[in-house]
Amino acid sequence: MQAQRGWIKEALPEVDERRRVWEAFLDGVGYEAALAGEHERARESLQALVEGRERQGEVWLVGAGPGHPDLLTLAALRLMQNADSVLYDSLVSDRILDRVRRDAERIYVGKKASHHTLPQRDIEAELLRRAQRGERVLRLKGGDPFIFGRGGEEMEALLAHNIPVRVIPGVTAASGCGAAAGIPLTHRDCAQSCVFVTGHARADGVLNLHWPSLAQPGQTVVVYMGLGQIGVLCQQLIAHGLPDSWPMAVVYRGTCADQHVVTGTLGDMPQRVQKEGLSSPVLMIIGEVVHHRGVGAFPAFNAFASKEEA
Ligand code: SAH
Repeated sequence: MQAQRGWIKEALPEVDERRRVWEAFLDGVGYEAALAGEHERARESLQALVEGRERQGEVWLVGAGPGHPDLLTLAALRLMQNADSVLYDSLVSDRILDRVRRDAERIYVGKKASHHTLPQRDIEAELLRRAQRGERVLRLKGGDPFIFGRGGEEMEALLAHNIPVRVIPGVTAASGCGAAAGIPLTHRDCAQSCVFVTGHARADGVLNLHWPSLAQPGQTVVVYMGLGQIGVLCQQLIAHGLPDSWPMAVVYRGTCADQHVVTGTLGDMPQRVQKEGLSSPVLMIIGEVVHHRGVGAFPAFNAFASKEEA
């Protein structure tokens, strides 16, 4: 940047103009290129900004975390404050949306377990259309964009059209709910592995997971999107060798103000969940780590949240 100052000062005598160019550069692909050592590409991007040539659109695939705004990354927050438009899911809370730039256009694309408000193809087409007309589009997703978030598909669709894509990881529901409920997902006494599975994997309408590898001692199983299939899930894990006393926790809206945690066993959880009237989104944590449940991060979050809101 130091080395470019001379010619930029000649091209743009106004200090405000130069500042605008540098700000745009730091938020754009040019800066990423410079960091990656691609100086030619960085220089081209800078030149385009100085000459006022049309801005290249891009898409930022950003993880918003499990719900509480304190769990946003600094990178997510920075991009949220720079986007021209934002496409967000139902998992993204209002308290997070409040932190998106005021004049950014907001497009709700839904996504609840059974009914997708906008089909995936249409979401990809919308991202593409906006990027192609030069917008910096924020694709804000609950949790991490690459964990059961279809971020991979969106990235591929955009790259196929040469749209620059940046991916910012987020705190995935497993980490968020583990911390919020005080359950260490891998406690060395009882879990040497932790697997994330989706309760949406169906073949002919039947939940289709590799049961023998899931019904293992020494392992924690975390199930995303599994509420509708909880009966089959518990029954299959028992049928494949886990005792019906095997511990299990269900976390509703972990880290959010209305978080609710229910603990039980494979044998009794389907009834418990029904009795408590839990609805989506919930995350299930299955394994002996549930016995190590301690203090959740949630009370502290809650105190902070009410102070902030007051
Ligand atoms: N990309 C997201 C997951 C999307 S799939 C992530 O990394 O977390 C949607 C599922 O995530 C929900 O059905 C639920 O199982 C889980 N989930 C997301 N946020 C949650 C939260 N705050 N509390 C409980 N479950 C959550």
